[in-house]
Amino acid sequence: MSFDYDLFVIGGGSGGVRAARLAASEAGARVALAEEYRMGGTCVIRGCVPKKLMVFASAYPGMVDEARAYGWDAAIGAFGWAGFKDNLHAELTRLEGIYTRNLVNAGVQVFDTRAVVKDAHTVALASGEEITAKHILVATGGQPFVPEFPGSDLAVTSNEMFHLDALPKKMLVVGGGFIACEFACIMHGLGVEVTQFYRGAQILRGFDDEARGHVADLMRGRGVDLHVGTDVISMERVDGRIAVKCTTGHDDRFDLVMYATGRVPNTAGLGLEQAGVRLTRNGAVEVDAYSQTSVPSIYAVGDVTDRINLTPVAIREGAAFVETVFHGRPTVADHELVASAVFTQPELGTVGLTEEQARDREPIEVYSAAFRPMQSLFAGSDDRVMMKLIVSRETRKVLGCHIVAPNAGEMIQLAAIAIKMGATKEDFDRTVAVHPTMAEELVTMKTPTRVA
Ligand code: FAD
Repeated sequence: MSFDYDLFVIGGGSGGVRAARLAASEAGARVALAEEYRMGGTCVIRGCVPKKLMVFASAYPGMVDEARAYGWDAAIGAFGWAGFKDNLHAELTRLEGIYTRNLVNAGVQVFDTRAVVKDAHTVALASGEEITAKHILVATGGQPFVPEFPGSDLAVTSNEMFHLDALPKKMLVVGGGFIACEFACIMHGLGVEVTQFYRGAQILRGFDDEARGHVADLMRGRGVDLHVGTDVISMERVDGRIAVKCTTGHDDRFDLVMYATGRVPNTAGLGLEQAGVRLTRNGAVEVDAYSQTSVPSIYAVGDVTDRINLTPVAIREGAAFVETVFHGRPTVADHELVASAVFTQPELGTVGLTEEQARDREPIEVYSAAFRPMQSLFAGSDDRVMMKLIVSRETRKVLGCHIVAPNAGEMIQLAAIAIKMGATKEDFDRTVAVHPTMAEELVTMKTPTRVA
């Protein structure tokens, strides 16, 4: 049977773009890709990139405060949201253009439209046109989810945060995951009075408990009014503001409420179940280690599979799919020891097991240090950084590393290489410190803080 294309990719985000480009340019496949919104997907258009640029913008007031202690006659003026927003969107448009050009230059046929799966080898475009392909790759990502409650339609999500007409004076962030915490810090840094509600006992569920506590303390210390064990009951518009009723009596009025209480995979109306593709209970596409679905010609990568929802993981899954299907080299995307960062202020960088996960598996030593780093200490700040290693008592391997510090994301990337290579605590110890730095603590912690 002959097909219009060797590969049809649905979704022009991190995973889909990488797979399409590699299949076309390196494997010589005939490839088409449909994107219904903007090329680049969540990461480029409404995720990592604009978020990180806002993180940068929000850090300047703190730097200027610190500069005074270092002798600078410095004062920060007002923040111009409109000017920043223009620059931000110009940058996103530039990046979007690069993504599109890279695809076109690789020979990928791009359709700027929604596509759904019709059967094992057919996709239907919004125009009604049907296109056949030997393989279909579903890379449709996910979207924010706001639970239903009275007034829930008044909430915005991370999607809208990059398009605000003006910065609010006072806002509520609901949620305790990395996106909620990052936006709480960003908005606080930009001068907004921020309250954050999280219904669980501690923010950043899934991360190392000690690190979670450390980040929460620092966020509170910097002025985010964080309430855990607190959820919203209802919201209503009153005098142009949003009146929020909550479970703990911290009822208040806000100019803006942002919900970041989870994301759902984009599978609704995609035709997958009718085509025989099995979904998990939360609507993600069920895949095996090779990203193959229950229909052999259909694969899925990235957030739509709800494995590890990060851009570099989606990219690796897309590349592994191309190796497997178009180069005949069965390749499993490696989900072990994936490092990541939470871009709060300060950042949390993490790789490997948390203390809680590790001690459930085997006897461990924990090395943990919290101290005031030179730069901010000099400026009179009480902020502490945290460096933590989890070590296997049997193999001596470092099983996990957790850092809460300015630029922890940069540090953890490097620590992750050593840990991925199987470095032991003694390998860390043999490494001579870089002095004076914060990260030197990682190679100078001699005595376990505790064993478990
Ligand atoms: P996406 O990038 O979501 O791309 C899916 C694309 O498919 C979208 O462009 C969508 O429009 C399109 N689409 C959907 N359905 C259809 C259809 N039927 N037809 C055509 N097109 C369709 N990750 C990190 O690693 N680091 C970070 O710092 C980070 N920060 C984040 C901050 C925020 C606010 C958010 C929301 C996410 C963040 N992420 C971060 C996660 C990261 O953005 C995702 O893991 C990544 O984008 C997933 O890539 P993907 O290819 O699976 O899907």
